[in-house]
Amino acid sequence: MKKGPLSLRSQLSLVLGGLALAILTGVGGYLGNLATDELYTAQQSAVRATAQAAAELLATQLRDREREIELLSIAPHLVEGKLDTAAVREGLDRRLALHDEFAWMGVADPDGTVLQATGGMLTGRSVAQREWFVAARERVYVGDVHEAKLLATMLPSQPNGEPTRFIDFAAPIRDAEGRLRGVVGAHAHWRWITGIVDGTARRQQPGSGIDALILDRQGRILYPEAMKLAQAAGEAVLPKTLVNGRIEGPQTFGDGKDYLTSEATLQARTNAELGWRIVARQPLEQAMRPVRELRRELVLLGLMMATALTLAALLLARRISRPVEQLARIAQRVEAERRIPEFPAEPAARELAQLSDAMQSMATSLLDTEQRLQKTNATLEAQVEQRTAELKTANAALEHLATRDPLTGLHNRRSLDARLAEAHALDRRYGASNGRVHGLLLVDIDHFKRVNDSYGHPAGDAVLRLVAQMLQAAVRATDVAARFGGEEFAVLLPELAAPLEAVTAAEKIRAAVEAATFPEVGKLTISVGVSLASPDDADVRPLVDRADAALYEAKRGGRNAVVLKTVEAVA
Ligand code: GH3
Ligand code: MG
Ligand code: MG
Repeated sequence: MKKGPLSLRSQLSLVLGGLALAILTGVGGYLGNLATDELYTAQQSAVRATAQAAAELLATQLRDREREIELLSIAPHLVEGKLDTAAVREGLDRRLALHDEFAWMGVADPDGTVLQATGGMLTGRSVAQREWFVAARERVYVGDVHEAKLLATMLPSQPNGEPTRFIDFAAPIRDAEGRLRGVVGAHAHWRWITGIVDGTARRQQPGSGIDALILDRQGRILYPEAMKLAQAAGEAVLPKTLVNGRIEGPQTFGDGKDYLTSEATLQARTNAELGWRIVARQPLEQAMRPVRELRRELVLLGLMMATALTLAALLLARRISRPVEQLARIAQRVEAERRIPEFPAEPAARELAQLSDAMQSMATSLLDTEQRLQKTNATLEAQVEQRTAELKTANAALEHLATRDPLTGLHNRRSLDARLAEAHALDRRYGASNGRVHGLLLVDIDHFKRVNDSYGHPAGDAVLRLVAQMLQAAVRATDVAARFGGEEFAVLLPELAAPLEAVTAAEKIRAAVEAATFPEVGKLTISVGVSLASPDDADVRPLVDRADAALYEAKRGGRNAVVLKTVEAVA
């Protein structure tokens, strides 16, 4: 294919397709970024909400359990009745059955001996050293998580193999006078707490991957167990970066993964000063998954639209360029075939229709003009030919008129002068080398005046014509016979081999005239002066003068004679 600018079709497709791609990429990118920011903010607030909800719920639940124990401690049968009765144990068992978060409930005397307990567990044993017992002698108590010691052996083990842990609730039992009668205590399962936290995290949208950690005031992990163990083993499990002392925002955890995080502190609404911190987190990978999906969809949509637009551009370009190409082909055909081919009936656009019409009328007018030009040319050529021929004829006639004497048809004086000058020039150049010279005869009719006088001027003219004929007949074709003026004639004899040749020629003419009888006029004679060119002649003048002198001599000598006048004779 011929190199050159790209076709209109390709250019239009490229520009429109590229434009579409650029716009779609731009808009797509912008929307993608916008969506990313939105989503990021949304996910971060979801994580924060999880942490806060978990902390809130936990605080409420802890306070409820604390109230529960506090209410139990002021129940009339404990405040007034005996504490070691079976009724007390039945009451405890009933409560335990209602609250499955509790693993154990019991009542101890002021010395720490368990008087009654759920399932009869630890009855008779001493809890005097336990923190909850010591604290609850004074006030309502909620204790931090701890591993069960004695109870662990009596209770079914944890389903996940974790050690059995409890949160302790305890309250003093006092009589009407405020004297300590005993202490009521309860152990709540740690998994109740973790269940609350996990449940809150799970309540977030499914598949969000949000989970929650429980830390204590010092940042030690309480839950989940695996992280707690890893931390205990000295691993850096938690991110080091803190925002306002909290684990907040995108963070890299010890497992190397990035998480969106948020931390909430348990609000102290109870006697407990647990100071737990709830950290909710969502794997960044999962948080950003909708963004990636959105981006992929945008890219896909963009590509599809760009393809569609490019295709549309191609079609449009084809629609525009096809008629143009068609018109170009038509123009080529007009040039090659010199006739108007069929033009496309219905071009795609008004401009194309205009172009087509314009081309059609232009082609028609061009071809018209061309034909007219051809015709005119042919006519002109014929005319020029005819005029040239006429001119030639006219020129020939002019030439004849210019060089001939009208009466006799001989060369006129002007023509003779030109031939004489020519002969003089030629002799000057070549005469010396070939030894040839030219000669001149001057012929004068004797007593011509009498002819005119006796027979009239027309008769004189007739004589002149006859003498001219005889002159012409007597000389060679190369000789120049001319009318010198009046009834005088001259003959230029070029390239004479010998001077006598001139005299011979003169004699021949003289004899011819003498021999002839002129109608009406009768006998006539002529006198001839002969001269020969000399290398010393500066121009033609001396040659003519010598011939004239010779003629004069012939007249003086009695006429009807030929006289030769040479240079030597003149000298
Ligand atoms: P000569 O012997 O001394 O030459 O005597 P001539 O009579 O010829 O003397 P001249 O030369 O004086 O006379 C020439 C005459 O020729 C005069 C003129 O009338 C006549 N003539 C000159 N031209 C023409 C012409 O064209 N036609 C006629 N019919 N006569 C002419
Ligand atoms: Mg004369
Ligand atoms: Mg005369």
